Amino acid sequence: MPEFPEATTIAYQLKQYLNIPNNNNSSITLKKINIYKESIIKNIGLIDEIINRDLQEVSNYGKIIYFKFKDDYWILFHLALTGALLIKELIDLNKINYFEKYKIIEFVFNEIRDGNNLKDKIILFTAKRLFEKVIFIKDNNPFKKYGPPFNKLKPIDFINILSKIKKPIKLALMDQSLIAGIGNIYAIEGLFCAKISPLRKACDITVQEYYKLYSCLKEILKESIKNRGSTISDYVDALGEYGNFQNFHKIYNKSKCPQCNNKIKKIKIEERITYYCPDCQK
Ligand SMILES: [Zn+2]
Repeated sequence: MPEFPEATTIAYQLKQYLNIPNNNNSSITLKKINIYKESIIKNIGLIDEIINRDLQEVSNYGKIIYFKFKDDYWILFHLALTGALLIKELIDLNKINYFEKYKIIEFVFNEIRDGNNLKDKIILFTAKRLFEKVIFIKDNNPFKKYGPPFNKLKPIDFINILSKIKKPIKLALMDQSLIAGIGNIYAIEGLFCAKISPLRKACDITVQEYYKLYSCLKEILKESIKNRGSTISDYVDALGEYGNFQNFHKIYNKSKCPQCNNKIKKIKIEERITYYCPDCQK
């Protein structure tokens, strides 16, 4: 958590708010950074080089949210379990006071439009458990070690990547070096929808089953984005609101199969909790 739908939701909200220019009449730059907890911030020395640089893009690569600045400077956010990127101005005071207890770093953006300075825009990054990461980096491609994001993959590429892998399909789907963006929840829901056991080796799955799995994942991710993602424990969007897609999970954290009514099995595959129906998923 968060996975692709949650990262997409947050990145979209930030992008709308920061109003990234697509003409030369306005520019938005990072004016100031306030640091509250250094331990989960990497390459802090790059901050001076990023200050005052034009912000060109706010988006996500799989689960990772990023700010991209002019001349290949980036700030990457790994939200892990409890990370949140919050638009301070749009969240009510009580809520912001709560989140501020966990503040790690704050970004103050300055927007100039038609020669005028607009009001500062503040994005707050908070984390409770400190498995999260903020990475400053100068690189022409900071995502080299990751596979292509699922949302950019055609079915044939999806099949080509996975059908060579000898480990269980659930682990292959979650392996970010193969395909970026799918984590525990959506792997579990996708495999249930496609009626594939999470324990089967990826290389043993038929082409037909892969097509089904691909379209299941597409549909599930799309529906989740519509619902601003799933909140299992701590996830909130950039407005500090819970997602809603957990209400539509079919099998994650459930005890009875919605299709056959038999008991759902809860097992661990490499330390990650997995739910599946042994009767419906073969
Ligand atoms: Zn079943």
